[in-house]
Amino acid sequence: MIIVLSKNVTKEETDSILKGISQLGLEPLYLPGTEKIVIGAIGDERKLQTLHLEALPFIEKIIPVLEPYKLVNRKFKPGETIISLGDVHIGGGTFTYAAGPCAVESRDQIIEIAEQVKASGAKLLRGGAFKPRTSPYSFQGLKEEGLRYLKEAREKTGLHIVTEILHTADVERYYEYYDILQIGARNMQNYDLLKEAGHIDKPVLLKRGLSARLEELIMCAEYIALAGNSRIILCERGIRTFETAMRNTLDLSAVPYLKRETHLPVFVDPSHGTGDREIAFIMAKAAAVTGADGILIEVHTHPDRAESDGKQTITTGAFTRLVQETGELLEVLRRQHNEH
Ligand code: PEP
Ligand code: MN
Repeated sequence: MIIVLSKNVTKEETDSILKGISQLGLEPLYLPGTEKIVIGAIGDERKLQTLHLEALPFIEKIIPVLEPYKLVNRKFKPGETIISLGDVHIGGGTFTYAAGPCAVESRDQIIEIAEQVKASGAKLLRGGAFKPRTSPYSFQGLKEEGLRYLKEAREKTGLHIVTEILHTADVERYYEYYDILQIGARNMQNYDLLKEAGHIDKPVLLKRGLSARLEELIMCAEYIALAGNSRIILCERGIRTFETAMRNTLDLSAVPYLKRETHLPVFVDPSHGTGDREIAFIMAKAAAVTGADGILIEVHTHPDRAESDGKQTITTGAFTRLVQETGELLEVLRRQHNEH
């Protein structure tokens, strides 16, 4: 529930509402805006009836929040969440590139790719050290050794590391290696992992599950937020449909939907979303047009020699062109936006 207080409300009156909410076992949220103070109440809204809020003169409006998600709900936060990592700001009108190979394969491989994608404009380096592969016979990743190479790439280039952690215990164990914790599609509903991600002081990139509805994705983000971490990036990465021509069906309409319903930044992964490097290149630009806050894209110096996902991986040269072409598109979009 959202409670909008009238302009001349006193501090005592505001405090009395906050106290009343918490005494009923709900979580009060104090959301001061530039014009008015708004109070949120998270929990079983029926209990609030005993407060008779509607009778209080300093309450202007009471808005029930029908959606099951509260903390990540756009209604609870004026403006968008901007996630800052040093001088990189994700969300709020920027477009951020997280680029790199599917998997870390060697020290030289990740450092060479990191240097090249950085020169082209990437701010985040992606690369998996633990690979959740469909086949147990496929390359499973270099594990901790891979994390060490990522760390070295970070030291050399200044890029922030986005990498997937599969297990709850590893969130803490490998804390020093990642700057953004990636929760993969297969783990989207691993609630213990989500809660653990809620305890850390680093952003989380949460990927949409293979067959997850958007509301389910948002509810998983709510788990992380409720555990204490609201620095969450939602990531559309394609879903299973009846279509088999491509690896997945990239649901780009998810971007404006998620941005309308939540205040979180939204990324698109056109690589896993399509499984095809030529189409991924085009869909990356399409993602920018939908209003995405960035992309997570697989890039390799030699995609054909990649240990995993080579077919959907673009070359470092193509990445340079992609940043250039996307930049031109974003320019046009910004101009249109300013004219309206
Ligand atoms: C990845 O981005 O490395 C990955 C494994 O993707 P997903 O979890 O979306 O399949
Ligand atoms: Mn991959």
